[in-house]
Amino acid sequence: MIELRTPTQIEEMKPAGRFVADVLVALKDAAAVGVNLLELDALAHTMIKDAGAESCYVDYHPSFGASPFGKVLCTSVNDAVLHGLPFDYALQDGDLLSVDFAASVNGWVADSALSVVVGNARQEDLDLIETTTRALEAGIEAARPGNKVGDISHAIAEVARDAGLRINTQFGGHGVGRTMHGDPHIPNDGRPGRGFKLQPGLVIAIEPWFLHTTDEIYTDKDGWTLRSKDGSRGAHMEHTVAITADGPLILTARD
Ligand code: MG
Repeated sequence: MIELRTPTQIEEMKPAGRFVADVLVALKDAAAVGVNLLELDALAHTMIKDAGAESCYVDYHPSFGASPFGKVLCTSVNDAVLHGLPFDYALQDGDLLSVDFAASVNGWVADSALSVVVGNARQEDLDLIETTTRALEAGIEAARPGNKVGDISHAIAEVARDAGLRINTQFGGHGVGRTMHGDPHIPNDGRPGRGFKLQPGLVIAIEPWFLHTTDEIYTDKDGWTLRSKDGSRGAHMEHTVAITADGPLILTARD
């Protein structure tokens, strides 16, 4: 079911968006060569406790998950691109790290992700992050009343295709509200003018993710982490966006 929020409810969602943005900034600043993924998870956990927020991940146990997630953060490194379960791993020079974080503040959820390279970056990794960022921006730009879900999907996919990337539509954006995953699904490719008509009050996570040379993924033996089939690296960018009469409002903006 697709739910629309009142302007008052969108105001109430802003603290969650700001909190999630603050945590991502802290994680980006903390990510460095030698830092362990479990330290990043602990940092997010501390910030959740200090803020009186609630993790959306720790008890998360969907049908495809082997057991409850158990951590508060997804950390996906190099050929891992989504749902990376933090484990005992110290980041190495040149690693491409994607962090995905969702939390609830005052009963409202926000969800956001970013990718960053620690230490000396390969140019191709910086290019992949830049393309994924532009795809997110194009998707957000299309998230306005009168457009349809397909317009967001198409805007994202055009940026990816222009960069020669392939697109997986299995995992994508989603409605956000009292819980982390609601309708509608926002695929990262689609036909313009198709799908649910966007209207003020719709709050969605838009989240392009791409791999260098494939669109195929498999699940790691940890039961969660999604890795590229060919070993190529991935990037992931996500914001929670409220569609208003004036256009898209990025609730998880980091500036
Ligand atoms: Mg997310």
